[in-house]
Amino acid sequence: MPPARRFRDPPAATPPPTVQIVTGRTWIHGRLEAVEIGIDEDGYIRRVAKNLTGAPRRDFGEAILLPSAVDLHVHFREPGGDPRVESVADGTLQAALGGVGLAADMPNTQPPTDSVDRFQDRAGRARGRAAVDLLLYATPTRPGQIGPLGRVAGAFKLFLGPTTGIGDPPDPAELPGLLGRVAETGLPMTVHAEDPQAFRPGPDPLDTVDWDHHRPATAERRAIDRLRIAPPGLRLHVAHLTDPGLIPELVERAVSFEATPHHLLLEATRGDGPRRKVNPPLRRPSVRAELLRAFREGRIPCLASDHAPHSSEAKDRPFPQAPSGVPGVETMLPLFLEEVRRGDLDLGVLVRAAMERPARWLGQPMGRIAPGHRAHIIVIDFRDRQTIAARRLHAPCGWTPFEGWPAVFPKAHLLGGRPIVEDGEYVGRPVGQLRRPEFASGDAVAPA
Ligand SMILES: [Zn+2]
Repeated sequence: MPPARRFRDPPAATPPPTVQIVTGRTWIHGRLEAVEIGIDEDGYIRRVAKNLTGAPRRDFGEAILLPSAVDLHVHFREPGGDPRVESVADGTLQAALGGVGLAADMPNTQPPTDSVDRFQDRAGRARGRAAVDLLLYATPTRPGQIGPLGRVAGAFKLFLGPTTGIGDPPDPAELPGLLGRVAETGLPMTVHAEDPQAFRPGPDPLDTVDWDHHRPATAERRAIDRLRIAPPGLRLHVAHLTDPGLIPELVERAVSFEATPHHLLLEATRGDGPRRKVNPPLRRPSVRAELLRAFREGRIPCLASDHAPHSSEAKDRPFPQAPSGVPGVETMLPLFLEEVRRGDLDLGVLVRAAMERPARWLGQPMGRIAPGHRAHIIVIDFRDRQTIAARRLHAPCGWTPFEGWPAVFPKAHLLGGRPIVEDGEYVGRPVGQLRRPEFASGDAVAPA
């Protein structure tokens, strides 16, 4: 993967020439307008105007051009995962087809990504195999490695609750020092916010309603309370928020957060089996409806998939033994483009939550169709509604919790101006870059 370029270049004496013009309609100044996008040879947008000339044109007519989505939260499970279930190559292929141009991959690999050596090993495995850009998280479990990891990793992920592949959460006495060290690196940190002390013991959970009872929303609230000691300079983000009642407090504390498609669209249901077992659990219908309302009102800054595939054999074990997690990077954006098509979601709200804010959070020149940004562009035709079916998706695990749901998949996807998807089929090569944040001084800490 070539090294990432600086976010804000000093003004060049001669701007690189436009080598390609892409035309269509886009969401600009709060409405859809016809645009022509000039792209340079490095795959950056140079000009956006009504009329451009002087380079070959790629005309998408009345179709809608949007920036590719940035997914803050995926588990591609390399190294250590079963390659028949997921890999960087398969995960980024699903991302490409689902309109995600950058996927941020979590560090609960085997072994966990908790040292520079392990980070470099993981980065080396990804090199030349990613269909879209990748940003790799590290986990700050070894205090002496936090500073060095800060110079190579894309972001940190802290697990306050138990999850797949990660052992005990940090000792409360060590948490302030750990948060301080991460703040010194300047990297963003995402937190899995569940406090296991608030889990309720009881008989084995048999369905998603029991699972919600066993790992209640109070565990999320308590974990978020524990983060009050975070130093003000820490770029803090809460993964997979489930309790909409916590939104005002997070906004007030300038803490960023995300919601997932499964917590927004699926709910705890009596008799619902381990295929829908996730951490934190699906919540009861009224909580889920309130979370979706908050998302539609633009009160949730980021949408993220928490793509976490497991084999169908593992997910069909008895509920207590089944692993938590569902695949989702290929269906995240299509599910919410369908919400837009139906008139239930404003396109501007979706663009901010799935593109602009996650890109800004990770310090990436992406998420907007604007000069200086990567020409990661998806092409949408809202007349082309499809039905999600696992057999037509590209997850090796072969199942989806959204079987039968209507969705709008991108017709085309350009990565740095080069087509990687055409007519809904992958046509690319593994040209994804490994990215790190490119924060400019004075950036806001939180995108909320
Ligand atoms: Zn996760």
